[in-house]
Amino acid sequence: MIQKILIANRGEIALRIIRACREMGIKSMAVYSEADVQSLHVQLADEAICIGGPKSSDSYLRADRIISAAEIADVDAIHPGYGFLSENAKFAEQCESCNIKFIGPKSKSIRIMGDKAIAKDTVRKAGVITVPGSDGPIENETEAVKVARKIGYPVIIKAVAGGGGRGMRIAHNDVSFAKEFHVARNEAEKAFGNGSVYIEKYIEKPRHIEFQILADSHGKVLHLGERDCSVQRRHQKLIEESPSPFLIAHPDLRKKMGKAAVKAAEAAEYENAGTIEFLVDAKGNYYFIEMNTRIQVEHPVTEEVTGIDLIKQQINIANGAKLDFDQGDIKFEKHAIECRINAEDPARNFIPSPGTISLYYPPGGLGVRVDSHAYSGYTIPPHYDSMIGKLICFGPTRKIALQRSYRALSEYLIRGIKTTIPLHKAIMSDPVFIDGKATTAYMEDFMSRTPTDLFT
Ligand code: ADP
Repeated sequence: MIQKILIANRGEIALRIIRACREMGIKSMAVYSEADVQSLHVQLADEAICIGGPKSSDSYLRADRIISAAEIADVDAIHPGYGFLSENAKFAEQCESCNIKFIGPKSKSIRIMGDKAIAKDTVRKAGVITVPGSDGPIENETEAVKVARKIGYPVIIKAVAGGGGRGMRIAHNDVSFAKEFHVARNEAEKAFGNGSVYIEKYIEKPRHIEFQILADSHGKVLHLGERDCSVQRRHQKLIEESPSPFLIAHPDLRKKMGKAAVKAAEAAEYENAGTIEFLVDAKGNYYFIEMNTRIQVEHPVTEEVTGIDLIKQQINIANGAKLDFDQGDIKFEKHAIECRINAEDPARNFIPSPGTISLYYPPGGLGVRVDSHAYSGYTIPPHYDSMIGKLICFGPTRKIALQRSYRALSEYLIRGIKTTIPLHKAIMSDPVFIDGKATTAYMEDFMSRTPTDLFT
């Protein structure tokens, strides 16, 4: 049985895992970089050890140092959180070979789903619909243009190793394709050390709807409903909600997609928590795009709607426990909306706004959850991503979740830096979002018709 967990991460997700450990009577151990000495995860964990310099490549991405720390501190499991090493099959394998439990899927499943072209191929063979596109990666430009024409413009060129919305380019004709093909390959090489790309039909104005999966090591695979993550900027999620306003109106489609999600996870012999992502067009056609083999930033909306603690489930599954409920036992009784609070200036093209938070006062009250590592006097280091918290508001209906979100955003005080709070307030009072009509094209339209002085 797991008695001590090393958390190979920082920020709010490290706190979230420490909280689950404490409730389960498991000891937690933080690792941190020299830039994170003042971080809350370092203060709140039972133990903490510094693993290197401020840059991620000198600390949170150093598998060797993390595993050494785990050996020295005699931990029996590592929780990777999201980002950093969470989807690194080699790291999972290293943990496996050092007899440290990796709280996540087996390295084999990470490998299958970590290459998006292989992932699509695997789930397609299992009967799950994928976005029409090239059969695997394409290296040669002449070949690629032929494939793009065959698929039909517009197409999207995507990195097989992609993540975080990087390495994706849209092309509308042969001329733009030639240019974007090279840009995408270069971007992918730079971001992921792997320039391999594949081509997909560009679905116009889709919704991004994903299903949360839990799978134990005894072959039971369940889904915990969907999250609608259509509000995105540059393919990066800003707001997530569950259930999806589109699927509220199409319950049969939800059933079909849930079954397809379970099938996709089964195809990768999946174990632990994971997410199957789909795009859904206006007519209700749905297409698998990828699987994330880790806990997601937006997992709290699912937790609030189902009442299931996903981090505890992850730990139980890693312990070899069976999921002690069935698909029919899962109840979806609330509506939850998450706003990502980023240290960015939405009035100035979302430029990062690191610095010292002079005053921090989070909202509270009925139906409000704040997962954040920020506090008054905290200095945000410039080395990591800009998310400093998540505001999750929930209630019996979408209308109440929306009203609560607006109310909680109005109460949320963060002084000394710029944040996305005013942007979220404007979205929560925007008729298109309130009507549940947002697609992935929403943010561009919203920004073009909303005066930026609203965000300051
Ligand atoms: P990443 O792993 O970088 O997050 P994804 O494959 O999950 O990349 O895609 C991220 C977002 O990019 C999607 O939510 C969607 O908005 C957009 N996208 C990806 N593929 C397509 C496509 N074929 N057509 C239209 N939009 C797409």
